[in-house]
Formats: sequence, structure tokens, C-alpha cells
Amino acid sequence: MGKVTMNVKLLEMSRNAISLIYVACRQCYSEKFAGEVFLDSSVNIEKQEAFVKSIVASGHQSPLEHVKFTFAIEGVSRALTHQLVRHRIASFSQQSQRYVKEKDFDFIIPPVIERNPEAKNEFEKLMAAIQQSYTKLLAFMGQDNISGEAANQDARFALPQAAETKIVVTMNCRELLHFFQARCCSRAQWEIRQLANMMLDICKEKLPAVFSEAGAKCETLEYCPEGEKFCCGKFPAKA
Ligand SMILES: Cc1cc2nc3c(=O)[nH]c(=O)nc-3n(C[C@H](O)[C@H](O)[C@H](O)COP(=O)(O)OP(=O)(O)OC[C@H]3O[C@@H](n4cnc5c(N)ncnc54)[C@H](O)[C@@H]3O)c2cc1C
Repeated sequence: MGKVTMNVKLLEMSRNAISLIYVACRQCYSEKFAGEVFLDSSVNIEKQEAFVKSIVASGHQSPLEHVKFTFAIEGVSRALTHQLVRHRIASFSQQSQRYVKEKDFDFIIPPVIERNPEAKNEFEKLMAAIQQSYTKLLAFMGQDNISGEAANQDARFALPQAAETKIVVTMNCRELLHFFQARCCSRAQWEIRQLANMMLDICKEKLPAVFSEAGAKCETLEYCPEGEKFCCGKFPAKA
């Protein structure tokens, strides 16, 4: 049982991503069949990349849905994943607290609590107490012959939002751009913002033609749509 740190790993992304977006977009306007011109070496990859950049800039986003990224994420709290799964144009597979017993659960400490020694001590004591109670609850249910997932599914009611979890997430490029707009913003909660920035770094490296300008909404708008009260100051608030 203890504190853990966030880890994000790219498991897979669509192969030939640039050509896929390029050919999907071209199909809209071409007499030719995408099935025949896909990976056509007569159109070099630099030209395809420039074309993909131009469609991202123009806001013609539906061809971006053909390319997807799958991430494995660990060292995050249940508080984070509760926010993450609100994004509906995505696929999720999360570690279950029914099938996986939390016999020695790890947890995430918010930085502001961690840097105050008294608060940190209180937090860690609470985590240890919850672990003890969770284990006792399982033992009590065992006396009534309730065990395994049947016991875990009820004992987990005592677990905190700080409990560490692992999740696999798949999003297409259009949804990723939307996710980054919402979650890289300074208004987003610190932990999901950290995750979004780590995913954004990976996307920028793997597919710069789509993601080089991606980030919080203000990065493309060049103003803050959140209003004076919530504006972080990076760009001026919309009057
Ligand atoms: C700073 C911040 C604070 C937040 N605070 C709260 C809060 O206090 N309480 C709370 O409940 N949530 C809160 N949220 C979550 C937020 O309301 C959204 O549920 C979450 O960000 C998912 O965004 P989304 O619905 O745009 O995107 P997704 O679900 O990822 O969908 C992407 C886009 O698809 C379209 N779409 C998807 N489903 C539908 C549909 N059924 N009908 C029409 N169009 C659809 C929309 O255009 C949508 O923007 C907060 C989010 C942020 C970033």
C-alpha cells in the first residue's frame, strides 16, 4: 500500500495513419476508389501530411475519425477515471474492484495535501484505516459464507476515490482533439489535466500533422472562452 505515480503507455495506433486520413478525405472528391489508391506511392507522404494539416486547420474533422489511439493508463485515481469515462466517443476497459481484491490498495495523494506534512500524515492514516476496515468487512462477510467477487463488490463501497486504478482507453483523433480542448485547459482538474498532457505529448510525437497545434481550446481560438473569472491569462478572455 502506498503512493503511486501516473504512467501512460501507447499500446497501439492505426497503421498508415496519414494515408488513411488522406485517402478517406480524397474519397469525398475523387472518382477513383479509395480501395485502389490507398498507399499509392505516386502521392508522397509529405504531400499527404500537408493535406492532412490543411483539413485539420479547416475544421473538416470527420476523416480524422478513421485513425485511433489506444493507451494503457495506470497510477491514476478513481476520481480521475470517473471524469475520463464521461467522454462518450471512446472505449474503456477498467480494472474491476469486483474481480480484483484490493488487499493492499495503492493511492494517489493530491500535491497540495502531499506538500503539507500534517495533511499528508492525516491522509496516509486515513488510507491505512480504510484498508483495515475493507479487510475486516471481507472477513465479516466470510463468516456469512460470502466471498470472492460477491464480497469484493460490497467491500469496495468503503474504498476512497483516491484508490489507484488501471484503464485502457481508445479514442479516435477527432475525439482526442476534443478531449485535449477540454482537459488540457487550466480549468480542468489537475490530475486529468496531467493525463491529458501526457497523452497529448504522445500524440504530438506520433502524429504531428494532426496534433501539433492541439491543446486547450484557447490554443486554437487565441482567446479564452471561459470568461474573465476563469481565464488563466495565457490568452485574453473573450469580451
Ligand atoms: C472544466 C470541466 C468541469 C466539469 N465539471 C463538471 C461538473 O461539475 N459536473 C458534471 O456532470 N460534469 C462536469 N464536466 C464534464 C463535462 O460536462 C462533460 O461531461 C465531459 O467533459 C465530456 O465532454 P463532452 O460531453 O463534450 O464530450 P464527449 O462525451 O467526449 O463527446 C464529444 C462530443 O460529441 C458530441 N456528443 C456526444 N454525445 C452526445 C449526445 N448525446 N448528444 C449530442 N451530442 C453529443 C458533443 O458534441 C460532444 O462535445 C466538466 C468538464 C470540464 C472539462
